[in-house]
Amino acid sequence: MKKIVALLLVVSCLLSGCALAGKTEKSTVFCMDTVMELQVTGENRVQGIQEVTKLLRQLEQIWSYTDADSTIYKMNAGDFSPEQPQREIIDKAEALSRRTGGALNLRLGAVSEVWGFRDGAQKVPTQDAIDAALAQKKWDMGAVIKGYAGQEAAELLENIPNIDCAILNLGGNVQTVGEKPGGQPWKIGIQNPAGGTPLGTISVTGTASIVTSGDYQRYFEKDGVRYHHIMDPETGRPAQSALTSVTVIARDGLTADALSTALFVMGLEQGSAFWRESDDFEAVFVQTDGKIYATEGAMLSDCSFEVIGREK
Ligand code: AMP
Ligand code: MG
Repeated sequence: MKKIVALLLVVSCLLSGCALAGKTEKSTVFCMDTVMELQVTGENRVQGIQEVTKLLRQLEQIWSYTDADSTIYKMNAGDFSPEQPQREIIDKAEALSRRTGGALNLRLGAVSEVWGFRDGAQKVPTQDAIDAALAQKKWDMGAVIKGYAGQEAAELLENIPNIDCAILNLGGNVQTVGEKPGGQPWKIGIQNPAGGTPLGTISVTGTASIVTSGDYQRYFEKDGVRYHHIMDPETGRPAQSALTSVTVIARDGLTADALSTALFVMGLEQGSAFWRESDDFEAVFVQTDGKIYATEGAMLSDCSFEVIGREK
C-alpha cells in the first residue's frame, strides 16, 4: 500500500505560552509541499504574518525542484550558475555536506525521482535505475531549505517593530522567534511516529530552530517493507540506520535542517561522534525500537532517555 503521511503537525508545538489573548495572529499556509502553521504575537502581528507568508512563497519559488523558473530547476537543466544571494546559501549547504562526510548530499534529486517521491508514484526502482539516478547528480535543496526559510522568517520578524514573539511550524521544522512573554522557555513536542501524545518535550529559549527528520514523514510500504524518503548517498536507497527520527536544535536554521538529515543517515553511533566534535547543535535520536538518546544540552523532558555525553 502506498502511503504518504501528510506533514501536518510533524512536530506538535505546545503553543500556549506565546498566545497572549487578543495579541496573537495564527495562520495556516500550504507551501513547499507541506502544511505550515504560523503564530505571531504583538501589535504588528498581522503585518508579521503577511510578510512571512510572502517570504515563504518567494523562497518556495526560488528553491523548488519542479518549478521551471526556479534556481534549482535551471541548475539541473544545464549550464546555469546562480548569483548572490542564492550562491551563498548553496555554498553554505555544500560546506555542511562536506562537514558531514557526504551524509548530507545535495545531488540526490534524481534518486528521489526514481523512488517516486516527486510525482507520488512510489515504487522500488531497479538497481540500474538507482545507479543511473546517482550518476545524474541533480541538485535538490529539500533537506535544508525549510530550515533556512525558518531562519530568514525569524530575521524578518525580528526587524518588524512591535512583534513580541512568534513560533512557526514549517512542516516539522519549528522556528521560535524571541523570548516568550513571562520568560518561560518554548516547549516543543517531539512527534510520536505512531501518532498521539508527543514522545517528549524540548525546551528552548529565544530564537532557535528545532528540526526533525523522520522515516514517517514521507514513505510507502511494499511487501511489508517501509521505504522512506531519506536516502543513503552510498546506496541510493532509504537510509537504514535503525532510527525513526532525529531532531536537531540549533541557533542556525539551515544548519539544523542539514544536520537532522545527515544524522539520520549516519545513525546513532556516528551521529554521536559527530556531535562530540561539534559545538553548534544538540540532538535527540529516536530508534525504531523506541529507545531515545539525547545529547547532554538538548533540554529534553517528559520521557525516559539515555544521555549522550561529551566523553565517550
Ligand atoms: P529532511 O526532511 O530535511 O530530512 O529532508 C529530506 C529531503 O531531502 C528528501 O525528501 C529529499 O528531497 C532530500 N534528501 C533525501 N536524502 C538526502 C540526503 N542524504 N542528503 C540530502 N538530501 C536528501
Ligand atoms: Mg533536513
